Amino acid sequence: MTDLSHTEEEAMSETAEHGGTIDLERSKAEDEEDDYDDDEEDDTSPELTTAQSFFWPPSSANFEKDRHLVYLQMMYELLPDHYQSQEINRLTLAHFIISGLHFIRARDRIDKDVIANWVLSFQALPSNRAALKKGEFYGFYGSRSSQFPVDEDRVLTHNNSHLASTYCALAILKVIGHDLSTIDSETLLLSMKNLQQDDGSFMPIHTGGEMDLRFVYCAAAICDMLGDWGGMDKEKAKNYILNCQSYDGGFGLIPGSESHGGGTYCAIASLRLMGFIGDDDLLSNGSGHSIIDSSLLLNWCLQRQASDGGFQGRTNKRSDTCYAFWIGAVLKLLGADALIDKVALRQFLLTCQSKYGGFSKFPRALPDLYHSYYGYTAFSLLEEPGLSPLCPELGLPLLAASGI
Ligand SMILES: [Zn+2]
Repeated sequence: MTDLSHTEEEAMSETAEHGGTIDLERSKAEDEEDDYDDDEEDDTSPELTTAQSFFWPPSSANFEKDRHLVYLQMMYELLPDHYQSQEINRLTLAHFIISGLHFIRARDRIDKDVIANWVLSFQALPSNRAALKKGEFYGFYGSRSSQFPVDEDRVLTHNNSHLASTYCALAILKVIGHDLSTIDSETLLLSMKNLQQDDGSFMPIHTGGEMDLRFVYCAAAICDMLGDWGGMDKEKAKNYILNCQSYDGGFGLIPGSESHGGGTYCAIASLRLMGFIGDDDLLSNGSGHSIIDSSLLLNWCLQRQASDGGFQGRTNKRSDTCYAFWIGAVLKLLGADALIDKVALRQFLLTCQSKYGGFSKFPRALPDLYHSYYGYTAFSLLEEPGLSPLCPELGLPLLAASGI
């Protein structure tokens, strides 16, 4: 039995609230990154010496698939205790492990029935149809610690189900090949409409929270995976997304905010999932046919590849493993991935690869599940032999996204 009960760390944590998160490394993470940027690296510090021992000197020239299998299997069996602070994001961490195993073509290591039952146990359900009128969201909880039982009248008095947890739950079920038609998607989607705001954005949980592009993306991905767009007003969502495109071509997480790699991914992937942009609407047809300024967007994305080969999430920030996916996937969706310097990006990613498996955020830092997963998606984007191909708009293995 997979033990995911001990769990979690700072890895994909940074914006976590109320169970489950799509981490785009915004608030706290960026503060940490700012601090890191200002630091002179001290080769004699114990912390760095420990981190260095996780890497080849200077780095392996190959994607070490067998090492990643060992890393993910270890995480599948028992998460290290420093992940305890991320307990509330347990489903998200499970998604990184299980979908990661699918990327390296080791899906056979997963006990499908055990995982399916475990994920489904986190679903919030109303006591009756009348409860749906109270405005709550009936999705999935992030973990057991955020899941409250029904009272003696079978009424769910504390419902903390969350959009990001719901995205991760459905992603896991898709990856293991569970039939999503067995889920009460009508209840889930009808109640999800309660989370959409007048401006088209979504809050992640019915009791409140940050409202930005991350949760528009979660809602769009949920509708796509369930094959039913009854859970959102697509026109409103589209208008919100368009209002987030900044003067420099990238997208901020909210209208008027600084362009950000994660926000830009959420914007473009959502528009693709909702059908507002297609395979050939953007660069091949010229920006005049697109609902966004795609040439300015292309320019912004390409300028995020830094001299060390990696992608930065914002202007003047350090290259970071996860943005190889967030921005690389946007370039793929724009039909412009041929413009990535793939040799340089691969070299950068390999400097973040631990010799014990997994990837770190920066070169010579300790690996974590969040950056490991987006390292695998990035190598899939680079068409590494032996990896499952990527569905860029869902951030999942293509075959899983296709229901295979
Ligand atoms: Zn990152």
